[in-house]
Amino acid sequence: MRKQAKISRRKFVGSAATVAALSSLPVGKLMTFAKGSSANPENADWKDQGVLYVDKSPYAKVHNVPVHAVTITQGFWGARREINVDKSIPSMEKLLEANGRMTNFLRLVGQSNAKQTGPVYSDSDVYKWTEAVGFALESGDRPQLREVTEKIIKEVVAVQEPSGYLNTYYVDDRSKDRMTPDVQRWGHELYNLGHMIQGAIAFYRATGDSTLLDASMRFVDGYLLPNFGPGADKKPIFSGHPEIELALVELYRTTGQKKYLTLAGYILQGDDRIKVPQRAYVYHFCGIPFTSRTHLEGHAVRAMYACCGATDYYMETGDEAYLKTLDVLWNDLVATQMYVTGGVGARSQGEAFGDSYELPNFTAYGESCAAIGNMMWNWRMLTATGDAKYADVIERALYNGINSGMSLDGTLYCYRNPLAFDPSGGDQIRNPWYDTTCCPPNLERTFASLPGYFYGTSKDGLYVHLYDNSELRWHLEDGTGLQIVQKTNYPWDGAVELTVSPAKPVEFAVYLRIPGWSDSTQAKVNGQAVSGATPGKYLALRRRWSAGDTVDLEFNLTPQVIEANARVVDDYGRVAVQRGPLIYCLEQLDQPQGVPLYDVSLDLRKSASPRFQEQFRANLLGGIVVLKHPGAANENSVSGNTLYSSYTASPAQTHEVELQFIPYYAWANRAPTPMQVWTPYLRA
Ligand SMILES: [Zn+2]
Repeated sequence: MRKQAKISRRKFVGSAATVAALSSLPVGKLMTFAKGSSANPENADWKDQGVLYVDKSPYAKVHNVPVHAVTITQGFWGARREINVDKSIPSMEKLLEANGRMTNFLRLVGQSNAKQTGPVYSDSDVYKWTEAVGFALESGDRPQLREVTEKIIKEVVAVQEPSGYLNTYYVDDRSKDRMTPDVQRWGHELYNLGHMIQGAIAFYRATGDSTLLDASMRFVDGYLLPNFGPGADKKPIFSGHPEIELALVELYRTTGQKKYLTLAGYILQGDDRIKVPQRAYVYHFCGIPFTSRTHLEGHAVRAMYACCGATDYYMETGDEAYLKTLDVLWNDLVATQMYVTGGVGARSQGEAFGDSYELPNFTAYGESCAAIGNMMWNWRMLTATGDAKYADVIERALYNGINSGMSLDGTLYCYRNPLAFDPSGGDQIRNPWYDTTCCPPNLERTFASLPGYFYGTSKDGLYVHLYDNSELRWHLEDGTGLQIVQKTNYPWDGAVELTVSPAKPVEFAVYLRIPGWSDSTQAKVNGQAVSGATPGKYLALRRRWSAGDTVDLEFNLTPQVIEANARVVDDYGRVAVQRGPLIYCLEQLDQPQGVPLYDVSLDLRKSASPRFQEQFRANLLGGIVVLKHPGAANENSVSGNTLYSSYTASPAQTHEVELQFIPYYAWANRAPTPMQVWTPYLRA
């Protein structure tokens, strides 16, 4: 069955051709590479390093392209990214200032009388925001934003102690607690350092300014390495909140200094000189050999970041035990622990993974950071293997469980991303600020880095991982210049047109990701049909390419009704609705008056296949395709005032209603009605 989307293709290609919603100035002119920096003595390619710099990683199959090589033009992500850089990143800077994140630094050099404020991981908010700025500047200089960030970096670095230690919480009376076993467990010192390294690297790759990078290296070289690590003369490390592992591997890639990789390996292995209760190895997801793990458990963000670090470590060392473990954990993720939105972390208690198949909808935690961690881990697995199954998870998380985390206007954020919600409980789901404000800058850095996720290169060609209007200006690994222009109205329409233009005619493979959800995909090269498009695989088109060659793809966006495994008891008798990469949901205010969502079900009985109507609504929620489908409203309301009533075997009295679905990411972006229930999982 093939249902054409009701959008004129000509119309969207026309609008997509208006280039560059985002500024796309070349970045080359703003570089002020610090002479004498220890960051990168030989290497001139710092500005051409991707989200991950894996060009020299022996066990990376697909290499990242730099963020600046890809311009995401007008379209789904173009609009989102424009809001991110125009509104979210600047407003977060104001919020960081207003909530004392910077006075925490300034007070230590006598420039503020304010007291220390915020939790132990407050510094990481500044670093994650700096990382977002770094990625944003790779897409084009923004002098004002760059200058504000340079000032912030100066204020951070001014606090660094001669030993290299830099943290605004463990100072004064708390200095004595630094890196004690208990503080390693709960104090987030290494977590802060990890984000400092990541922020420093992103800013360096955008601007060549290594001020923060040099400071983060001084921390590792001066304070950490001489005092901590294996060996009787050093104290042990317990990561506490994994993050330092992935950061150290990227620091190794950036500097070429193996000591950072070695330290990451040591931390991933765990050091049994720090003894913690068994439950702490679960919750913190560190402290025992990573390769001894058999399932995902404990704090979801910790587990995801640990998996990222382990995959990074594998890409450098080729240690098969790591790959084996990562494989086991990944299968656990997709077979028993991941929401249909790509969100992870079922329990709010401990922000944790639950048991296998424990995936409640209303109480789902699904922290934005955990979905981002899921995407980051799958990006690393994709980089290591070139297997499209990881790209499918990236897309699922990105379009749904991550994208829901930021409001459409870019100023409000979800900490948790539940799959069903009733605001009558008083919970405010979207907020501008959280005292633990890990998620907002995490969302900002993710959207800012997005161009770096669209394409990749390998020895024999080019990968297309994600679809949206974009332009790649880069080169094949043999140095041949390559431009790819992608035109589409994805995810609203399944047609994608790519123009492939190598600098000279040359044979190579273009690997096109065929999404797992597209059960029939048509592909053409220069108008000629090609076969072999398989869901969940890359379609390899190996031929001699010449400038202006075209590839046309047509994915099948027919809405699908999705069932969960019967062991997911919370989804028993329920279905979800998916169209292309987007999971759909219902909001009360789109449904007929007087029909509470608790009382409706999707009416699938009258025909063999679902009967969705698809309609593009340009003025609704930033422009979305809404889905309509017949539903049945129960006339003997189950959501009335009675808690229990006798069950009757006779068929329920229902009447037909038209249900209207919107994409999940767009939920809770309109003024709430008195009872706004939402659920992607609907009774069928
Ligand atoms: Zn978070």
